[in-house]
Amino acid sequence: MTHADSQTKWHLDDRQLQRLVEIRHDLHAHPEVGYEEHRTSKAIQAELTDAGVEHVAGLAGGTGVLAWIPGTSTGPAIGLRADIDALPIEEATGLPWASTHPGQMHACGHDGHTTVLLGAARALAEEATAGTLERPVVMVFQPAEEGGGGGERMVQDGCLDGRVAPFSVEKMFGLHGWPGLDAGIVGTKDGPLLAASDRFEIIIEGEGCHAAWPHSGRDPIVAAAATVAGLQTIVSRNVDPLDAAVVSVTVLESGSAFNVIPMSARLGGTARSLRAEIQDLIEARITAVAESIASAHDCKATVRYNRGYPVTENHPDATNRFREIARAEVGADRLVEIDRPAMGGEDFAYYGQVVPACFFLLGQRPTGEATMPELHSPRYDFNDSTIETGVRLFRRLAMEA
Ligand SMILES: [Zn+2]
Ligand SMILES: [Zn+2]
Repeated sequence: MTHADSQTKWHLDDRQLQRLVEIRHDLHAHPEVGYEEHRTSKAIQAELTDAGVEHVAGLAGGTGVLAWIPGTSTGPAIGLRADIDALPIEEATGLPWASTHPGQMHACGHDGHTTVLLGAARALAEEATAGTLERPVVMVFQPAEEGGGGGERMVQDGCLDGRVAPFSVEKMFGLHGWPGLDAGIVGTKDGPLLAASDRFEIIIEGEGCHAAWPHSGRDPIVAAAATVAGLQTIVSRNVDPLDAAVVSVTVLESGSAFNVIPMSARLGGTARSLRAEIQDLIEARITAVAESIASAHDCKATVRYNRGYPVTENHPDATNRFREIARAEVGADRLVEIDRPAMGGEDFAYYGQVVPACFFLLGQRPTGEATMPELHSPRYDFNDSTIETGVRLFRRLAMEA
């Protein structure tokens, strides 16, 4: 790595960049889904060892790795996070480094996030050796972002509070490759960036009977139909019109014969929100609406509401610091304000519940192209030309945030 005459001119040299691209392609070719990232975890540990970075493995159920680098001061530390898991998707990129694991793929670019953090780890280890790293740095390589809640388990295992590393974390930063932004552009926003994403299931029990004698039973299908309609009133009548929320019924199952009223019906769906109060409201209203409507039809509803990830909420202090560093490191013209949150979910949210945090988006769209495959597409591939921007931002955040 090159130590240039000023901070803004620091960059990876060609050899180091080539090494990171090789790491990224190796991870991409060997994707592993949540909590099964054993090879990935070993590759991360090997690279950290080679860079002389202390670390502990076996976290969050086995595959999580926490690394740290002491600074010239005793702390607290700046935290950096990468997610390391892949998705159960059959890859269709046809690239030389395409997945060699059938049915598994790095379709969310976590191979890129892991590579960027490994690059920052090596750069920061060199700064520490030179005596130019002031604050300690804690680096979280977490498993199972894609629905498994690996971030929550890393927090529970003590990765931020000094139980694993000898430092507690004061501020946390993470990034996600973003196909909607050009390569070289970075973006963020204050407050909610990604949504809380929950699941619900409603079982409506009635009493089956002959369809020609409906009065002799209790029809769960009519109750289910009324419930689907009733659930539409939560966003339209209960949520403040200036708040964003989604309640989508995506499963509706019942019956199998044209002349039989069945015993039960099943509904399922997802609820998304951007504030904890709205999440609470939606959960309470889904339960009340489903139980009351079933009761009005002489049926019984049982509601299971499973909370997924909380809202990924950017803290203004961490976000302002990110903006200052991004302006200095990549240029004010390459930093954009994201105007609206996306209703997808991210388990980076769990770190932000413990310490001030900022999640930012690293543009991926190749220069001159109008579009690129979206996240979770079987054709998605993290853009190698953006590795250096990610490393530079993580390095400088650790040194100056
Ligand atoms: Zn994803
Ligand atoms: Zn992702």
